[in-house]
Amino acid sequence: MHYYSLNKKAPNSSFKNAVIKGLAPDKGLYFPESITPLPQSFWDNFDNLSYSEIAFEAIKQFVSSEIPEDILKTIVEETLSFDFPVVKLNDNISTLELFHGPTMAFKDVGARFMARCLGYFNQNNDREVTVLVATSGDTGGAVANGFLGVKGVNVVILYPSGKVSDIQEKQLTTLGKNIKALEVNGTFDDCQAMVKTAFLDEELTSKMQLTSANSINVARWLPQLFYFMFAYKQLHKQHDDIVFSVPSGNFGNICAGMMAQKLGLPIKHFVASNNMNNVVTRYLISQLYEPKPSIQTISNAMDVGAPSNFIRIQEIYKNQFEVLKENISSYSFTDEETKDAMLEIYNNYNYVADPHGAVGYLGCKSYLNDNPNAHCVFLETAHPTKFLDVVEDVVKQEQPLPRQIQSVMGKEKVSTIISDYENLKNFLLQ
Ligand SMILES: *Cc1c(COP(=O)(O)O)cnc(C)c1O
Repeated sequence: MHYYSLNKKAPNSSFKNAVIKGLAPDKGLYFPESITPLPQSFWDNFDNLSYSEIAFEAIKQFVSSEIPEDILKTIVEETLSFDFPVVKLNDNISTLELFHGPTMAFKDVGARFMARCLGYFNQNNDREVTVLVATSGDTGGAVANGFLGVKGVNVVILYPSGKVSDIQEKQLTTLGKNIKALEVNGTFDDCQAMVKTAFLDEELTSKMQLTSANSINVARWLPQLFYFMFAYKQLHKQHDDIVFSVPSGNFGNICAGMMAQKLGLPIKHFVASNNMNNVVTRYLISQLYEPKPSIQTISNAMDVGAPSNFIRIQEIYKNQFEVLKENISSYSFTDEETKDAMLEIYNNYNYVADPHGAVGYLGCKSYLNDNPNAHCVFLETAHPTKFLDVVEDVVKQEQPLPRQIQSVMGKEKVSTIISDYENLKNFLLQ
């Protein structure tokens, strides 16, 4: 499979090269040259396939022969070694729990898939690869966990100081080995900007092989399309018009859902649910795309002012605003509304949602107001105990800590504080 750069000023790339490089040389995101819908035989047999079989069939064309099929099958199986249950709240609303992996956020799937692909491509390579990644909260932990101990790969994670939850911070600062954490005096957007600068710094890239593990990397981004198929498998016999409400920050997850739709998955509509970092909500109203600096909210993994995957969504819809608008709605919510929703979900359904899931729930409710016959699935993107302070404050009940969280709680944080790009560069070169 070939990938082209969305800036259209770089040569086409193999999957392998796109995974190793992350971003194209012209700074563009890679996008697959073709998307072939899955054959009717796949859909006819859908109910009999396991999750790994579904995932393998869905991802195969994007990897093609660059990883042999038997190895790709193993990679997919290892990536998906936990559950993806749908929990029904009422006749119109369900949630897809994406937090049963090792770091309890949906990013585990992309990180584990990418780590294994990179491990495969790098197995006979003497040159070390440095994975440089900015995190607004959950990417860091998922990448740290996914890449821990992968041979020939060093991981450097940038996170905004004081703007991730305690547990998120522990997950990315306590593993040691090939994982290093940089604590940035600034916002997530500052972290993301520094990472982008590093990729374009020829002095740096001539001395080391850098790659990204944000959803700009195709191997992190594409496996997220599995979720939508897994939810569909669990729901399609009871419900016709299935809509997904995706709590969105960098818009990688929702954009992967649109890829699943391109592969033929009958998704009726998408809802991009935002906190007050709502550039896309505003765009769908005004048709003006106006990124703003991010503001801090209780759903911190969505505190993104300039979502990097929006350009991929534009590509999927060929920049046709009206077509895009047919297929996606977007709503944004304040922290107060989010907390009220968490309480409502708890009181009405005895279900504890995290702040991101609660934003997704609110997106479902807004959409259902105008479309009462749909069945809306909001993605529960992280386990509520990752946001313990907020969750316990709202539901007024102590939350039991799952074993994945307990295992990092007592560990000591190790991080290096940096303030600007020069600090980052010196750190990488030392
Ligand atoms: C990363 C993240 C999001 C946002 O996902 P995008 O793919 O960046 O839109 C939402 N919720 C949680 C818990 C996350 O970690």
